[in-house]
Order: sequence, then structure tokens, then C-alpha cells
Amino acid sequence: MSTVSGKVIIITGASSGIGEATARLLAQQGAHVIIGARRLDRLEALAKSIREEGGSVEFQQLDVTDPNQMQAIIQLALNQFGHIDVIINNAGVMPLSLLEVLKVDEWNRMIDVNIRGVLHGIAAGLPIMQKQGFGQFINIASIGAYSVVPTATVYCATKYAVRAITEGLRQEVGQNIRVTLVSPGVTESELADSISDDETREFMKEYRRNAIPASAISRAIAYAIEQPDDVDVNELVVRPTAQL
Ligand code: NDP
Repeated sequence: MSTVSGKVIIITGASSGIGEATARLLAQQGAHVIIGARRLDRLEALAKSIREEGGSVEFQQLDVTDPNQMQAIIQLALNQFGHIDVIINNAGVMPLSLLEVLKVDEWNRMIDVNIRGVLHGIAAGLPIMQKQGFGQFINIASIGAYSVVPTATVYCATKYAVRAITEGLRQEVGQNIRVTLVSPGVTESELADSISDDETREFMKEYRRNAIPASAISRAIAYAIEQPDDVDVNELVVRPTAQL
């Protein structure tokens, strides 16, 4: 059995929700976590809390839509530890609405963060992992990567893309580098706060009432990391029992 302990793990979108819960769990399990997101105050507070519990954490402001910032956080990890073990491409946004409302800026933001953000994580981390001869990407998709529902068309399209990218990456580099897709169902987080469309926001309040805690997804992520090096957990779907 491999272990989480001692691994150098970069987590994007770690200022709230699943990213935050994952940083806490992996740090508790002895990993060196390097956390990034745009809200520096939240990262600072999380790092303080992790350190108070004896965990190892570094943080840096990160906008995943900027490939240079993604490079910079990987460099921070390399400077500190000399290698990287895992990159968790978790940052995402979900401003849902019907297509006919034409929230084109929000479509573009989802494409930029949810798809380009993951690709920037791969671009920054892949050369390092190939040079090392080991590493693991964990990309966070959604149950929206498996079926489409109204208002979530563009969001689902971005998550289908994350699933396709993850599978393609596995086929291309899976000999040395582990590649895992984790797809949550409805999970407690701040994700629905990005919905600007009033009708959709009201609908989602009801839809999200059976949400499971973010720690449920973190445990799935930890499971994929702690497998032996020759075991690659390719896809995990984790949803509330109450969700169809
Ligand atoms: P949250 O909104 O709580 O977390 C999203 C995180 O992404 C925040 O830390 C946010 O931080 C960060 N983020 C957003 N934009 C950027 C950016 N441009 N650069 C860097 N970080 C960014 O939601 P979740 O924890 O739920 O979301 C995590 C992932 O899980 C997402 O990919 C989401 O699509 C996926 N998911 C969640 C589900 C759920 O029900 N919660 C279901 C299915 C999938 P900041 O604003 O500080 O940058």
C-alpha cells in the first residue's frame, strides 16, 4: 500500500468547498499541501488552521485561467520540496442558466476556469512529472460529465471536456503517471453562489438540499492517492444516496 503521508500535493481552488476539505484531510494524513485560489485571505486562514493542527502547508494566490500563475505555484512546490507527487485540478465555477438567457460571459468564464484551468494544470505539471518519471493528476469533473440537464448545458459541456481530457491524458502518459477523474454529485460548498440567474438559483436551492459534505469527496481523492504506485484509480463517481 502506498500512502498519502509525505507526498507533495498541489490543490487548485482550495479556498472553499471540496478543495478546502481536501487540503485539510490530506494535511491531516501527513501530506505537504500547496494550496491555491484567488481569495488570498481564505487561503491564509486555512493555512493557519492546518498549521495549528500540525500540518504542512504552503499557499499562493492563483488564478487558473493564467498559465503563468499555474507554473508559479508548481515552481513554489519544486523550490520547497524538489519534486511534486500530485496535482489536483479542482478549481471550478458553475453559473447555471438556460441557454436562451444568453449569459455569454458566464459561458466563457466556465470554459476558461473549468476547461482551460485544468489544461493549464496539465501544461505546468506534465513536463515535471515526465522528467521525474512519476506523478498523479486528479481532475475534478462532476456527475454533469455523464449526463446533461437544462440550465447546466455549458457547465456539463465543460465537465464532459474534463472527462475527455482526463481519459486522453491517461492513454498518453498513463505508463508512468497516474490519472484520476473524481466526479462529485451534489456536495456542500459555495459552488451555487456563482449562479446569477434568479430562477435557476431558486431551483438549485431545492435541488441541492440533499448535498453530502465536501469531506465525502476528499476521502475519494485520498483513496485514489493512497493506492500502490502500480494501481491507477481512473474514475470515481460519488453522489448522495438521495440523488438520481
Ligand atoms: P466552491 O465554489 O466552494 O469552490 C470552488 C473553488 O474554485 C474555490 O476555491 C474558488 O476560489 C476556486 N476558483 C474559482 N475560480 C478560480 C480561478 N479562476 N482560479 C483559481 N481558483 C478558482 O465549489 P466546490 O468545492 O463545489 O467546487 C470544486 C470543484 O468541484 C469544481 O470543479 C466543481 O465544478 C466540482 N463539483 C462540485 C459539485 C458540488 O455539488 N459542490 C458537484 C460536481 C462537481 P476563489 O474564488 O478564491 O478563486
